[in-house]
Amino acid sequence: MKPTVVLVGRPNVGKSTLFNRLTKTRDALVADLPGLTRDRHYGHGRVGSRPYLVVDTGGFEPVVDEGIMFEMARQTLQAIDEADAVVFIVDGRVGITPQDKIIANRLRQSDRPVCVAVNKVEGMNENVVTADFHELGLGEPVAISAAHGEGVRHLINDVLAHFPEAEEEPEDKHPKFAVVGRPNVGKSTLVNAILGEERVIAFDAPGTTRDSIYIGFERNGHNYTIIDTAGVRRRSKVDDAIEKFSVIKTMKAIEDANVAVLVLDATQDVSDQDARVAGFVLETGRALVVAINKWEVATEEQRDRIKREIARKLAFLDFAKFHYISALQGKGVGDLFASIDQAYAAAMIKIPTPKLTRVLQLALERQQPPLSGRIRPKLRYAHQGGSNPPVVVVHGNALENVPASYWRYLEHTFMKLFKLQGTPLRVQFKKSE
Ligand code: GDP
Ligand code: GDP
Repeated sequence: MKPTVVLVGRPNVGKSTLFNRLTKTRDALVADLPGLTRDRHYGHGRVGSRPYLVVDTGGFEPVVDEGIMFEMARQTLQAIDEADAVVFIVDGRVGITPQDKIIANRLRQSDRPVCVAVNKVEGMNENVVTADFHELGLGEPVAISAAHGEGVRHLINDVLAHFPEAEEEPEDKHPKFAVVGRPNVGKSTLVNAILGEERVIAFDAPGTTRDSIYIGFERNGHNYTIIDTAGVRRRSKVDDAIEKFSVIKTMKAIEDANVAVLVLDATQDVSDQDARVAGFVLETGRALVVAINKWEVATEEQRDRIKREIARKLAFLDFAKFHYISALQGKGVGDLFASIDQAYAAAMIKIPTPKLTRVLQLALERQQPPLSGRIRPKLRYAHQGGSNPPVVVVHGNALENVPASYWRYLEHTFMKLFKLQGTPLRVQFKKSE
């Protein structure tokens, strides 16, 4: 599993600058799509071949910031609790402040690994600037300049050293799907409807409260694993308490699934939170099925409205199938599985190089990439570079001149001609030798 790294520190130390630097390269993979709003607090990072998730706690909610009255925001504490590691950022030009000490105390009580990043020290002597910060009692500080990128790789390598390099996972032979969405849309009801019908093979041992629950089951002779982010089976034990919405838990579940089932509430507007979860699915590249729940109680007016809002706010999910269901009555659940199977198959497809290259040629015959100045990009052949999502690597020359619109055209052509439904597909360019 990808580790989740949370960035904490008092205001103005450079959290969002570091966040932007860590997530920049990944961001570029998903060109701007209509309606897609990026959550500037949660993102994907990668060093070398190692991916991780990163959370910027800056601006989560106002903090009381008066010296020793400093309080970390509730959401920040929740994030620390749910993350795998913490980067504690301090300002190397200011030195240790009372707020830093309060944060350090908190972090020493948590059982997460912590790395102290001494920021804004571009051009300064590493050993000198970090010396003072040993006093925080959180190990060897790392000198960085988030703005200039100095020391950032070193920092992340230190953080990731706490986690064993993920071995090449044996390929999952059956769909693993996560039921995600904001609170009260009906996730638990849906999970119960699904499991109520089916023979449940095995329950995983209940994890800690910060984890989703994995349940394996069989349906019509096929195996599935459901990732239950709502924690239905746990909830009964914990006094039926409604769990707080956890973005980190949702992110991790989406990461770990092959297919996300995004649940929306037909009687409500499509909220920013819905759009963010949807955006995260797309960025992660997971296959997707959308379930618009509570359809049986939605009025004509509400039905029209949610369809309009989906078209407007979730236009970037046009690769996914939409289902109108009633989890409460168990209606539409069977059809949902047809789409989960289809999305899974599309996400895992293996296409041989000659077939991909033929479709590339076809796409080129229909429409050439536009000239850029006097240069026309030359696209030669294509091979598959990955699955879930399928990645098509196109080899050629002058590829930096291919505009985003043509990129999209290629993606659409591959998706259409290979009849991929339910998964995004990514085209990458690679310079021919
Ligand atoms: P946050 O409140 O912790 O998210 O801090 P920001 O990322 O918004 O940064 C606060 C200020 O510090 C901004 O003016 C940044 O430009 C500046 N800053 C961030 N990183 C560096 C750095 O590495 N060097 C210098 N000199 N300034 C930085
Ligand atoms: P979660 O927070 O997303 O897990 O949502 P729950 O499954 O706990 O459902 C929230 C509320 O919506 C509960 O009162 C459910 O009974 C209700 N609910 C869930 N699915 C449906 C549905 O299909 N129709 C109707 N009318 N209510 C539903």
